[in-house]
Amino acid sequence: MRAFASVIQDRCVACGSCVKVCPLGAISVWRGVMAVVDTGRCVGCGKCKQECPAGAITIEKRGETA
Ligand code: SF4
Ligand code: SF4
Repeated sequence: MRAFASVIQDRCVACGSCVKVCPLGAISVWRGVMAVVDTGRCVGCGKCKQECPAGAITIEKRGETA
């Protein structure tokens, strides 16, 4: 089962830490407001989650409701 990162919009402070650590360029900060994940690229490695100071990222399993 593959996984992908998901951003909790209300928690994200748009610091950009996740963007710096993602090895695949799968996460970006949209209009300086919040992080967004390209789920087509993201492999769910969890590096962005580890770096997020706001606890705004969760790792979801594809095909499952979480
Ligand atoms: S889970 Fe990994 S691949 Fe996906 S956005 Fe985060 S750092 Fe990038
Ligand atoms: S590291 Fe967390 S708070 Fe910072 S931009 Fe990414 S999701 Fe938002």
